[in-house]
Amino acid sequence: MLRTQKLGEADRIVTILTRRSGRVRAAAKGVRKTKSRFGARLEPFTHVDLQLYERRSLDLVTQAETLRPYGERLAVDYPRYTAGTAMLETAEKLTPVEKEPALRQFLLVIGGLRTLVEGGHDPRLVLDAFFLRSLAIAGYAPALEECARCGERTGRAFAIASGGMVCGSCRPPGSASPAEATVGLMIALLRGDWDRADASESRHRVECSGLVAAYLQWHLEHGIRSLRHVEREAPSERSGRLRDETGRGVSEKPSATRGPEREAPLRDVVIE
Ligand SMILES: [Zn+2]
Repeated sequence: MLRTQKLGEADRIVTILTRRSGRVRAAAKGVRKTKSRFGARLEPFTHVDLQLYERRSLDLVTQAETLRPYGERLAVDYPRYTAGTAMLETAEKLTPVEKEPALRQFLLVIGGLRTLVEGGHDPRLVLDAFFLRSLAIAGYAPALEECARCGERTGRAFAIASGGMVCGSCRPPGSASPAEATVGLMIALLRGDWDRADASESRHRVECSGLVAAYLQWHLEHGIRSLRHVEREAPSERSGRLRDETGRGVSEKPSATRGPEREAPLRDVVIE
């Protein structure tokens, strides 16, 4: 469950990221009554097994069973709660087309929430890993090991609008100059190298978070909006490891964008 909105006196519109059908909005009747048969199952963060009745307008939630109540665990830990909230918001923004399958984004949200709840890593690192991998899935992985513009070995400059690290000759004015360890941390988070990420120093985490947030923000403002109007790619192209929904070329090397996909031994979200 990503989000809920009020609908009339007792109902809600719920926004769900599903395993098979991407982001779906549906109406849940009577969910705000105290004796609702859905209880707290249709709250943000909850991983639910859901049945929907498809209608011409909004689909209707007919059944919901909790698989993992991540919200309960996050609610008692503010830093993890805010990180989780940012994940859900980002997942919604990165799935702009309703009912467009988004399996990798779904697995990333499930894996990210589980990692947050397990508490084994700094929530800020978990969130930054989520951001970087979400961007990679959307076709916006930052170039970190080669110049984003010419592909040569990078210097020490990070230029958001250029797409990541750039070399000395491509470096536009006003680029950031992150520490080498900060760039190393971003690479580790993108790859899922937690040993390296957990060993990072606080100042590099702070710098990493700043760059990742600015990079994400830039793409949400400049990139995602345009996704709504682009034609879908041919199926052959989307079987690729990296989906670029914009139809523009992807300059990143897929190897740098492929974190090990988290296994999710969980039941399907059923959309009927
Ligand atoms: Zn260059």
